[in-house]
Amino acid sequence: MDEIRVRIAPSPSGNLHIGTARTALFNYLFARKNGGKYVLRIEDTDAERTSQAYIDNIFDSLKALGLNWDEGPDVGGEYGPYTQSERFDIYPKYAQILLDKGFAYECYCTPEELEAEKEEAAKNKQAYVYSKKCENLTEEQKEKLKAEGRKPAIRFSVSKAQQAFHSSPVIHFNDLVKGDLHQDTSLIGDFVIMKSNGTPTYNFAVVVDDMLMKISHIIRGEDHISNTFKQILIYEALGADVPKFGHLGMILAPDRSKLSKRHGATAVSEFVEKGYLTEALLNFVALLGWSPSDGVEIKTLDEIAQDFRIGEVSSSNSIFEYDKLNWMNGQYIKKMDIKKLTEMAKPFLKKYDLSELSEEQLEKVIAATREPITILSELEHDTAYFFGKDIEYDEGVKAENIDTEQAQNILKYFDSQLDSYDFDNEEKLHEQMADFRTYFKENYGIKPKVTMWTIRAALTGRTRGADMGVILEVLGKDKVKYRIEKAIA
Ligand code: GLU
Repeated sequence: MDEIRVRIAPSPSGNLHIGTARTALFNYLFARKNGGKYVLRIEDTDAERTSQAYIDNIFDSLKALGLNWDEGPDVGGEYGPYTQSERFDIYPKYAQILLDKGFAYECYCTPEELEAEKEEAAKNKQAYVYSKKCENLTEEQKEKLKAEGRKPAIRFSVSKAQQAFHSSPVIHFNDLVKGDLHQDTSLIGDFVIMKSNGTPTYNFAVVVDDMLMKISHIIRGEDHISNTFKQILIYEALGADVPKFGHLGMILAPDRSKLSKRHGATAVSEFVEKGYLTEALLNFVALLGWSPSDGVEIKTLDEIAQDFRIGEVSSSNSIFEYDKLNWMNGQYIKKMDIKKLTEMAKPFLKKYDLSELSEEQLEKVIAATREPITILSELEHDTAYFFGKDIEYDEGVKAENIDTEQAQNILKYFDSQLDSYDFDNEEKLHEQMADFRTYFKENYGIKPKVTMWTIRAALTGRTRGADMGVILEVLGKDKVKYRIEKAIA
């Protein structure tokens, strides 16, 4: 079998969309599973919609996800992507081949003329297809139009290609995901392959590039199915092998509409900024179409690659369940290596003076607060009381847990004991706190948890949070004393 080669071909008209990340992942998985190569190509033929910031975002996001591409122009020991705008000298050569073979022709129609055709079709309630007005222009007619200052675009003759390679206008292909797909090509107008400014259109550039890059399998979103019929005809007209195609269902929001900003984050970088881990994101998007054969959903990229079969990918749309992503992200946060997690947490703790804590203390704080959070941004709230001198009380906490006579007695006694506490020894602190709770239970019949609520409230302003031993140890004696005495006052 020929070499398996796939590609991801994003257009840089926005940051890397989570849907494109899924397409990239499925291509990557297909390549890994089949010992193939995975290529990145930036499709920036539309200069107006392209920006370098988006290109950078696409690179960075793919790399952060671990979807590194296997080849491309060498940029200082690393692979750059293939970029269509750097290949503009290539496309006219292939357009010329199509012109020479009679599968393409120059079109001198002005935008106004084309607009008039479209209006006419709309008036007659007909779907618009180009009139083919320019298909049979003589050399003389062309010279005359050129003399008027018109520059031709190049159009592909759909009917000529169809007649040359297919017995019927209805052409078929066997999609790797969706099975047999067909289209009546007589409904496809002769489309532009080279614009009058000399740049290629998407359908043409994509075929030339996939042909030259020897792409064997094209895995992409189902929104490209209608383009596929045009592309098949171009491959055939160029005398190239037609690759295999697999079209993935769309990713929809929970309300079944197109996933968009109003539902939440849509770009990979937005998810990361909100506190999602790229490992969790990747695992989550894999499940949008693919299901593990053993039913275990949490898997590494390597495990998924082993279990991935394109023919088993669901052909229907997938729903992007933010709740499920949150759950999954929480699972990854829970298991992540603590040093790595602490590093990832830092950008979410910018509000605080991190120099108040040693690296080791910060790791303790993160380890003690990583559950039950689902996204890293929650850490800002959940670690708040570890920083600064003073705390804010949650509503009702002071009245219920600090200002009562019983609470004041607990706090006063605690304050009197503090000098005997060993603040450098978490284990010891646990024992001392246990003795403290027992004292109030035995002498005053106060439930241990009530005693602890008071201490916790005075130290954190809350009645829930991290392990008390960690809180006492990280805050240290001076801060503990300060907050307790402030609560007494
Ligand atoms: N550049 C196209 C897009 O971003 C992808 C084309 C393709 O995969 O063929 O939608």
